[in-house]
Amino acid sequence: MTKSYVIKPELGKEYPVISHGKGIYLYDKEGNRYIDGSSGAVTASIGHGVEEVAEAMYAQAKEVSFVYRSHFSSDAVEKLAAKLAEWAPGSLNWTFFVSSGSEATETAQKIAIQYWQEKGRPTKNRIISRWMSYHGITMGALSMSGHVLRRKRFTSLLADYPAITGPYPYRKPEDMSLEAYALACANELETAILRVGPEQVAAFIAEPVIGASGGAVVPPNGYFQRIREICDKYEVLFIADEVMTGVGRTGKAFGIDHWDVVPDLMALGKGMSAGYTPMAATIVSDEIIETITKGSGSIMAGHTYSANPQSAAVSLAVLNYVEKHQLVDKAAEQGAYLLARLKELANELPLIGDARGLGMLCALELVKNKQTKEPFALSQGVGGKVIEKAFEKGLLIYPAMGGIEGVAGDAVIISPPLTITTEQIDELISLLKEAVVAVQQELQD
Ligand code: PLP
Repeated sequence: MTKSYVIKPELGKEYPVISHGKGIYLYDKEGNRYIDGSSGAVTASIGHGVEEVAEAMYAQAKEVSFVYRSHFSSDAVEKLAAKLAEWAPGSLNWTFFVSSGSEATETAQKIAIQYWQEKGRPTKNRIISRWMSYHGITMGALSMSGHVLRRKRFTSLLADYPAITGPYPYRKPEDMSLEAYALACANELETAILRVGPEQVAAFIAEPVIGASGGAVVPPNGYFQRIREICDKYEVLFIADEVMTGVGRTGKAFGIDHWDVVPDLMALGKGMSAGYTPMAATIVSDEIIETITKGSGSIMAGHTYSANPQSAAVSLAVLNYVEKHQLVDKAAEQGAYLLARLKELANELPLIGDARGLGMLCALELVKNKQTKEPFALSQGVGGKVIEKAFEKGLLIYPAMGGIEGVAGDAVIISPPLTITTEQIDELISLLKEAVVAVQQELQD
């Protein structure tokens, strides 16, 4: 192979070169086949090589791929925004287009701050977020992220945001009911707002289901309902980060729909274009847009590629595909089967402390001691070992560890395309089992 000049995740390591993909499968140039058991980075939710999307891509490229959003709108962005308004709950009717999840959450942060400025309350400019969360890698998004591992090198440059702990049912105090735990966790937000002062707080941000920093951690019922009440009480906007959970991944259009809670802003990415193009969005309520329209009349955000017709046409084709094949319902049905199979593994294998998830966003938490739930030291990299073993066996899964030593265990995310069949889930499970058993064996030796 010729020398590579690409900066790869692990410098010095050689990565297989991809050839092509079809459905849930990916093939490298050596002819090896992989089950895409995590949809890449929880992204390729309609599977690979979908013809309709390729055709929509080509059709748009023949017309026009790029125009600057200050010069033109396009049919593609207009139709896509209208479709998102149909999908999104409440009065979340307005879309600001960006190209990545980090841009989407950071734009939400900026719009929330601007909203309060337009209302004549400029001191409301801080965002409360949670430890064990991930909202992106740019400095604003990282400031809101409680992903200790990713924050570490930049801590002194970040705004001092994360303030509360999210609910983590697997590790809740044993003598507390789930209902009481949900309320206690949500009430931490009230304490944090009072500590900071409501006049300083613009918004609260949370992932409906915690993804990359915890591994499909599903909050108990009642949590987000109470969060909404607290936000309303103290005039704090609620930003739902749906970058991982949005567009059907959890078996509803959006993760937050499981609790019938309507946020003020929503960040989307990943499944919005299912990896066919970089595309993401911040969706905003009528009230926010009306306030800004009456005020300065313009949102202070945006990137060169914001609202480009090429990405919009592709994302529209992806949403049409999700609707046509009823993939939101499929995610709920097949996700329930996937979770049941993962729970079987957890019952069988001592390395697995917990199997959890919602829809097609599932995870296994790996523990040193199943009885006490003692996590592994992060330096042992047990999650990484399972991922590596699975890779060798032709199964791709995704890491989830927020890097909070002693607080959270290693987890691996299993989140295949929403199109996966029952037989393919069985195939995935048997490879996953082999990988976990192999690591268990290694740890015993
Ligand atoms: N928000 C959530 C919930 C995510 O899971 C991610 C990425 O994993 C992001 C934001 C950042 O998205 P991106 O990597 O596209 O910038």
